[in-house]
Amino acid sequence: MPSIAISGPRKVLLAAPRGYCAGVDRAVQTVERALEVHGAPVYVRKEIVHNKHVVEELAKRGAIFVEQETEVPEGAIVVFSAHGVSPAVHDNAAAHSLRTIDATCPLVTKVHVEAQRFARGGRTIFLIGHAGHEEIEGTAGEAPDRIVVVEGPGDVANVDAADPERVAYLTQTTLAVDDTVEVVEALRQRFPAMVGPKHDDICYASQNRQEAVKALAARSDLVFIVGSQNSSNSNRLVEVAREAGTVAYLISDETSIDPDWITQAEVIGLSSGASTPDVLVERVVAFLHDRGYGDVEEVTVATEDVHFPLPAGLD
Ligand code: SF4
Repeated sequence: MPSIAISGPRKVLLAAPRGYCAGVDRAVQTVERALEVHGAPVYVRKEIVHNKHVVEELAKRGAIFVEQETEVPEGAIVVFSAHGVSPAVHDNAAAHSLRTIDATCPLVTKVHVEAQRFARGGRTIFLIGHAGHEEIEGTAGEAPDRIVVVEGPGDVANVDAADPERVAYLTQTTLAVDDTVEVVEALRQRFPAMVGPKHDDICYASQNRQEAVKALAARSDLVFIVGSQNSSNSNRLVEVAREAGTVAYLISDETSIDPDWITQAEVIGLSSGASTPDVLVERVVAFLHDRGYGDVEEVTVATEDVHFPLPAGLD
């Protein structure tokens, strides 16, 4: 189909809030401070946050990223990523005399604490999230015999509980709010006695970023979410925009944009995942500016003032 170029004024709607959340900010600063205080190298288990740009910048400064704590030389310093780790990882680190710095987001730690509480109460725990994601692996490790990962409503018919009266659910912090509601409802129909966390586990940052994308998608012809492919919350933002009926792409930075995508877009919505540094969004704004999108309006749905202190010894 031949593309019809637009003739009206072009505009960018910029989501607020977008980008770094308090947990990511703390995790990145943890590695930076650990390098300052202890000197290079500092080992980091897994990507500290799911953003390639951030990982490459920290690697240049002396961080060494490993997949498992068992790859870290005995006695060395290792930082655990924002996504959290299971108790088995802490045990391994202790067995190798590693000096650990835990950059787990406090909101992820809160889910671990809930998992421990439900497990102590003898409950089967349905953990709603993506199997294989680091956060889910870490949380599931709190009670591997009691936790069952549920990825979507389609899984609900196939799960079981030793005692249907003693059942609980927890969720990954970065899921789309609406999807979680659907799974929880389906689980509750099968297990009416199911209890949940004290407060919703979807974190404030995921919620706010999703709300902002919903607001701008309704006014946009096209939405770009800046984030890495393996970033759960960035992928959720793309889904939120698409569910609002808008074409949406996940892009690493401006170099991922196919110029054909924007030929028919008068208004482009722009946001970024919680692990994306704002410099990458600024580069996309500059790219669009050069192509006629000079008018930039910020669409603000919430203001955030959450701050988590750095781990002890680094503040
Ligand atoms: Fe923490 Fe939420 Fe950020 Fe994840 S997205 S690191 S849970 S604040």
